[in-house]
Amino acid sequence: MLTLGLLVASLTATTLLQSQVPAEAAQVAPSTSLPTTPTNASIVAMSIADLNVARSARTVDDRAAQQVAQDRRHQRRVKKQRQERRADAKAEARAARRLEIWGLPVAGAGWSAWFGESGSAWSSGYHTGQDFTAPSGTPVRAVGPGTITSARWSDAYGNIITITHPGGDESWYAHMSAFERTSGSVRAGDIIGYVGCTGNCYGNHVHLEYHPGGGDAADPLPWLRGHGAY
Ligand SMILES: [Zn+2]
Repeated sequence: MLTLGLLVASLTATTLLQSQVPAEAAQVAPSTSLPTTPTNASIVAMSIADLNVARSARTVDDRAAQQVAQDRRHQRRVKKQRQERRADAKAEARAARRLEIWGLPVAGAGWSAWFGESGSAWSSGYHTGQDFTAPSGTPVRAVGPGTITSARWSDAYGNIITITHPGGDESWYAHMSAFERTSGSVRAGDIIGYVGCTGNCYGNHVHLEYHPGGGDAADPLPWLRGHGAY
């Protein structure tokens, strides 16, 4: 209202002034109004300056926004990489655990003829392994990770496989009806052959022997239990 009042007052003053000036002077009146032109120009100039300030402010804002977006992208990338590394580590740990999980040579088999039992049926006078009874053709599995270092025929053991485990311990699997594997590295649970009754045998079973460091036979059960096989 104050501005409007001033404007009305100013207009009134101009009207009064114009009514008082002669016609000649009135003709040059546009030139007297020239100062208003630079004023307009300066307003435009100011507006452009304002616009530039606004633009540069916007540019600064844009840059800040871009920086924030870039930072977020970087954070997302770092997070993703961290998650991938964590997933890789978990997969490796799972694989390592799988290698550490030992098992029995025949799943769900009956246990008979324990290590150390004496009897004339055994050439050494006592039983040198642990027997696991199962129907002929049942898969026989590696008890732990290792390498098949022998797959052969023996009159006493029939079809027999020897697996050498890390550290040099050996596991022997005797009387098999057939071999599935005869060489190469194996993981715990890999099928190496099938239950049978070849060699000096009284019924379908796997005769498992444990030879610590490749030496004389010892009871395989404490060894298997120590590896968490059962
Ligand atoms: Zn046996």
